[in-house]
Amino acid sequence: MLNVSHVTKRYGKVTACDDVSFRLEPGSVTVLLGPNGAGKSTIIKSVIGFLKYDGEITVGGYPNKTVEARRLLGYIPELPSLYPNLTVSEHMEFLARAYRLTDYKPRVEELFRRFELTDKTKKFGDELSKGMQQKLNICLGLLPEPRVILLDEPMIGLDPHAIKELKLMIEELRAQGRTMLVSTHIIDSVDMLWDRTLIMEAGAIKANVTREELERDGRSLEQLFFDVTEGEKPEEARAE
Ligand code: ADP
Repeated sequence: MLNVSHVTKRYGKVTACDDVSFRLEPGSVTVLLGPNGAGKSTIIKSVIGFLKYDGEITVGGYPNKTVEARRLLGYIPELPSLYPNLTVSEHMEFLARAYRLTDYKPRVEELFRRFELTDKTKKFGDELSKGMQQKLNICLGLLPEPRVILLDEPMIGLDPHAIKELKLMIEELRAQGRTMLVSTHIIDSVDMLWDRTLIMEAGAIKANVTREELERDGRSLEQLFFDVTEGEKPEEARAE
């Protein structure tokens, strides 16, 4: 559904992504896990078409910068960029018009209910707390019902209710056959039903495992993460 092939992105002398390749299967949740500065946002911004890079990215078989690919893609950025002079409702209205959505109002109501924004609909973008901004950001990303959804550090700033609701929603979206890539630097935040994890460090994918592979291996995600990012210890050292 999403195919990232040999993507390299340099900012001057910094190589943010170095020959990154991976595929996302339809109806799956993939976690992109890595420390700060690993290159997670860079790869997500490359997929969404915000950056120039070397390599190839396709969505549903279409090159990612085509109209066809953009129709399939949804993006929930790490930092919400809201309009200070639009209300919560007007943000949704604006997005619905931009995407030419029809019959979207019941969906807006449902998203507001689930993310506890129903009593905030008349507030302006700059009147919202950080957490509320992030909730609106999520509602905006989900309104067009994209087939492939990229979520960049989506749990940051959310209260426990919103985190629970978002995890539930990710499971529902997967059951509908949608494909998701969730980036995070917090291992504990991904105890949800992920199907595949990509561990990224210093611009490269250091591990690409399915949940079954990890279970067969007998390692926890945390163990794998530290083995990969801090180097595997020799057998004798582990036995001590
Ligand atoms: P992550 O999302 O994993 O925290 P990023 O993709 O944001 O990592 O960053 C990867 C690397 O690229 C870091 O070294 C970061 O400093 C660098 N970088 C990211 N954006 C820019 C930019 N606009 N200009 C220069 N360097 C950047």
